[in-house]
Amino acid sequence: MTANTSFRIAVLPGDGIGHEVMAPCLAVLDAAARRVEGIGLHYEVMEAGAGAYRDTGVAMSASVLRTCADADAILLGAMGLPGVRYPDGTEIAPQIDLRMEFGLYAGVRPVRALPNVPSRLADPRAQTMDFVVIRESTEGLFASRGKGEVIDDQEARDTMVITRAVCEPLFDFAFALGRSRKAKGAPGVVTCVDKANVFKSFAFFRKIFDERATLAPDLRAEHAYVDATALFMVQRPWTLDVLVTENMFGDILSDLGAGLMGGMGFAPSADVGAKHAVFQPCHGTAPDIAGLGRANPTAMILSSAMMLDWLADRHQRPEAAATASLIHRAVDQALIGGMRPYELGGSDGTAEIARRILHAVETIAVTGV
Ligand code: ATP
Repeated sequence: MTANTSFRIAVLPGDGIGHEVMAPCLAVLDAAARRVEGIGLHYEVMEAGAGAYRDTGVAMSASVLRTCADADAILLGAMGLPGVRYPDGTEIAPQIDLRMEFGLYAGVRPVRALPNVPSRLADPRAQTMDFVVIRESTEGLFASRGKGEVIDDQEARDTMVITRAVCEPLFDFAFALGRSRKAKGAPGVVTCVDKANVFKSFAFFRKIFDERATLAPDLRAEHAYVDATALFMVQRPWTLDVLVTENMFGDILSDLGAGLMGGMGFAPSADVGAKHAVFQPCHGTAPDIAGLGRANPTAMILSSAMMLDWLADRHQRPEAAATASLIHRAVDQALIGGMRPYELGGSDGTAEIARRILHAVETIAVTGV
């Protein structure tokens, strides 16, 4: 990539509050990129999701999928509508199909205390919390999606799938993340979260983790059961570093992490594979607040900063990392300046939060280029 090359970003706002949080996110991205200079961002905005399925009969068309495949990165709002279902009654969730299609095995969900966001925990050490849940995102219990069965209206079965082909790169990714965090002062501990005491599938998961841990002697590899991990996340989240776990467990633990950060509107995420990555907030389409202008776009905006960091690494573009850093610091600055989303009991809606973060992007110092 040459000095002035632009990144092509496939943008899928989706459904519900997906559109509401995507618009401010693109405005913040553009403002930050303009201030840092050196990278261009070109968006291909496309319709996909439950609304697309309702209107066209297709949740994600082949041409949308192709554009996503050719893009440098994919930004996604949220998808799914309560009243729109496939004929078998299941939800329209092409965002899950994207994970399978592009092999996005590592769902990265950072959990960090944000400045001036009151903690749900009384212990002041919660203000130093900074850990990451890595949710395997292509198999586990979700491998049964669309395949589970109900037998004679008496019994239901869904099957968990754990494969070596996915676990090896997943654990290598977790150790690499542990290493880069350690270089910035984190403890360098990677914990395999499972239920290996009960299930063969999880004993296998743990066995592969231990094998890959031997390739990372500079880090501490630990194990924890998922139930104990839920307890630790509430009791002492400030001691955690990198947690790596199965799809369903990660789904649950990352919402717990979002709660610890202040609410769903604060929790960013990335789904990363060998070639592609999708960046989207941890939250869904929030039908209860869609259309009210109350959605907090911070999680979407922080997800776009994760995208810039990923692009910076992949293409050796420090300007992209500097743009990500500007966005992170702008969010912190807006919070320090008194930004109070509805989900924290405040009265700042989507537009006001966007205004405050944009103002910070435009006024704080640019560093790190
Ligand atoms: P999914 O199954 O896709 O995760 P869901 O309906 O279970 O969807 P969310 O859509 O994430 O879950 O909503 C959970 C709760 O969090 C809702 O009360 C919703 O209003 C709230 N919420 C989600 N996102 C935001 C946001 N960006 N700002 C404020 N509140 C949010």
